[in-house]
Amino acid sequence: MASYDLVVIGTGPGGYVCAVRAAQLGMKVAVVEKNATLGGTCLNVGCMPSKALLHASEMFEEAGHSFAKMGVSVSSPKLDLPAMMNFKQQGIDGNVKGVEFLMKKNKIDVLKGAGKILGTGKVEVSADGKSQVIETKSIVIATGSDIARLKGIEIDETRIVSSTGALSLDKVPGKLLIVGAGVIGLELGSVWHRLGAEVVVVEFLDRILPGMDGEIAKQFQRILEKQGFTFKLGAKVTGVDTSGKTLKATVEPAAGGAAETLEADVVLVCIGRVPYTDGLGLKEAGVALDNRGRVQIDPHFATSVKGVYAIGDVVAGPMLAHKAEDEGVAVAEIIAGQAGHVNYDVIPGVVYTTPEVSSVGKTEEELKQAGVAYTVGKFPFTANGRSKVNQTTDGFVKILADAKTDRVLGVHIIGREAGEMIHEACVLMEFGGSAEDLARTCHAHPTRSEAIKEAALAVGKRAIHM
Ligand SMILES: Cc1cc2nc3c(=O)[nH]c(=O)nc-3n(C[C@H](O)[C@H](O)[C@H](O)COP(=O)(O)OP(=O)(O)OC[C@H]3O[C@@H](n4cnc5c(N)ncnc54)[C@H](O)[C@@H]3O)c2cc1C
Repeated sequence: MASYDLVVIGTGPGGYVCAVRAAQLGMKVAVVEKNATLGGTCLNVGCMPSKALLHASEMFEEAGHSFAKMGVSVSSPKLDLPAMMNFKQQGIDGNVKGVEFLMKKNKIDVLKGAGKILGTGKVEVSADGKSQVIETKSIVIATGSDIARLKGIEIDETRIVSSTGALSLDKVPGKLLIVGAGVIGLELGSVWHRLGAEVVVVEFLDRILPGMDGEIAKQFQRILEKQGFTFKLGAKVTGVDTSGKTLKATVEPAAGGAAETLEADVVLVCIGRVPYTDGLGLKEAGVALDNRGRVQIDPHFATSVKGVYAIGDVVAGPMLAHKAEDEGVAVAEIIAGQAGHVNYDVIPGVVYTTPEVSSVGKTEEELKQAGVAYTVGKFPFTANGRSKVNQTTDGFVKILADAKTDRVLGVHIIGREAGEMIHEACVLMEFGGSAEDLARTCHAHPTRSEAIKEAALAVGKRAIHM
């Protein structure tokens, strides 16, 4: 029987990063993966393919709409969708190979098959009708998440798709109906809208991007509407008639009332993700779940069974790849006897659309609800020199600081490259920095990041360029 210090089940960003860190700390490690390729949701059907399509479709849009005004004259761009999908696949393959390389480099055994926990120290790995049991001192569950489904609406991944199907459509839908105005729906909606689809988004709540700062979400909605998105907020899709050539979705007001029918060529169901624990044998092994089906853990990622830990999308917290990675590092360090830790107050979130939306820390709504006195500093990209010369002035930076101590509590950005810009705020917040610290930090000119410095100055009501 093979025996290890650590067996990690799942090779998404949580699992493979955990395995690498554990190997760095001297453990003998194996990963178990039931999918044909390593890398999990993120690399295969999540972050990476969506970003490849967002990039390619943005280039298509720019070539068609922005080049001419800069004096770059090109003939009207033509879409070669199979080539674009190939570009996406090359990106996936490159990253998957990268994870395989990391496993080899760190001498981590890759066991292909479905993992099942038999109890403390024992994992069964099954593939092609055969199974083996391996022994291990510790087990980390990193089995991620799966798409959430809508009752009564069957996903066939051709006409009614989840995010997975929406990453591989073989033609641009004339009309795309998206159920859910969260991050993934708006990113994939942007891809297909740029490639020519008419996009309607139906959202149960009365706002888009639930959980993000309300003012930023409002501005984002206005920008998307200007781009051509249609939103039906406070509404729910209760059924989709697939009998005809065109899909007919029944849409009802969330508060009740008369239903309407919306036609679409493709319906994308994007209402969130649920923890994935199928076939892991958790019940038999005695691993407790919480009331939302997530593996229950203590502050040190330990489950109810000794020597079994869990991280990533399968446990509570934001379903984000970088959160899973940080938990992977922390749990490996804890198992090695070190003080692994994740600061959940400083986990950035990004929507990779045009413009991008990024955020870290508390929203204004959260501060109000917690009764925290705060000051706000805002700075628009219309007053940022670099944005003006590039004619990409949509959006603004918003900084929320503690009214008494000036400590930065939240930073929210809507604008081009917002996803790259957020990290100086993350570093500042990790060190408990103040708006004054940020305002007194020299920022290179001309950069879009100067808008962050100006927003920090605006907290003290002394922005220079506004
Ligand atoms: C379309 C889309 C876009 C996204 N974009 C972003 C983004 O831009 N940024 C971001 O931070 N997050 C993004 N996410 C979310 C991100 O993909 C997840 O948060 C992340 O992948 C979670 O990592 P994980 O390691 O917990 O699990 P996963 O990546 O889900 O990996 C779990 C792995 O475990 C394997 N597994 C499950 N059960 C077993 C078993 N019993 N035995 C063996 N193997 C098993 C699965 O096959 C899978 O490979 C996106 C998600 C989607 C769907």
